[in-house]
Amino acid sequence: LRGDEHRTRFEPALTLDGKRIEVVANIGKASEAENAVNAGGEGIGLMRTEFLFLERETPPDEEEQFQSYKTMVTALNGLPIIIRTLDIGGDKEVSYLNLPHEENPFLGERGIRLCLNWPELFLTQLRAIYRASKYGPIRIMFPMIATLDELEAAKRLAEKARIEVDAKPVEIGIMVEVPSVVSMAREFAQEVDFFSIGTNDLTQYVMAIDRGHPTLAGKADSLHPAILRMIDHVVKEATRAGIWTGVCGGLAGEPLGATILAGLGVKELSMVIPSIAAVKARIRSISMKQAGELAQKALSCRDNKQVRALILP
Ligand code: PEP
Ligand code: MG
Repeated sequence: LRGDEHRTRFEPALTLDGKRIEVVANIGKASEAENAVNAGGEGIGLMRTEFLFLERETPPDEEEQFQSYKTMVTALNGLPIIIRTLDIGGDKEVSYLNLPHEENPFLGERGIRLCLNWPELFLTQLRAIYRASKYGPIRIMFPMIATLDELEAAKRLAEKARIEVDAKPVEIGIMVEVPSVVSMAREFAQEVDFFSIGTNDLTQYVMAIDRGHPTLAGKADSLHPAILRMIDHVVKEATRAGIWTGVCGGLAGEPLGATILAGLGVKELSMVIPSIAAVKARIRSISMKQAGELAQKALSCRDNKQVRALILP
């Protein structure tokens, strides 16, 4: 079967009843874009731009960033890429910003909060992304959004950067990884072109378990119905507003997770490169009706163990 998965990796992931799921890659380095395509990826669903900013003495300037983003877009040859703006803070530190020590960095100045407090850093990145968007289909995504105000401020800065470099508008989306966005999904859906659910952080913040905790992290299972019901709600609100939902957390790359997510109406699954071929094969082996039935069963479970005991169609 593994040989089969490999051979068919460039074919689209169509369910037995003909519904397409986009299977794309999470990458963290410009050079991985090509590997993603060779592995059957239909684009990049999450480009983590942190790589450009870590382990150095000064932040990369606009030109350096532009060259990196352009390299990726060019390697993708017309396939779409979602570039996520800087998500530092939390456990990812950068010495040159001289950030004050925080007791709880995962609940501190992280992701979009940091970027909004450092507008020049943010604008430089946005200008570089918009310049690269002239070379292929780029979408922009903001991490760690918690409030509508933050989204509005981020969009305002993006528009300023776009005008400064004279680029065309691109699709703008947000990571859904803070629980407040789930409750407010209806309002957020009016303001963006897509949602991408970050199940790693969403699970951490919903279960109140540090995602890297040495003994507890195993209990932070994204297949817990507490998380699946939130995903269900987000997809329903997105559909109602006419926008699409993807998932770029680890759940998207698991066979059971991918099947349940497809059954909940998620349109795009973004994952580590080695999972792509197997997830595509999995989607091809089921009907959307079967996936939907499995998803409904999962939603009615009492805990993650019951979900994990469900038999895959
Ligand atoms: C997530 O939180 O699920 C996610 C995909 O983002 P990251 O792992 O980079 O925080
Ligand atoms: Mg995250």
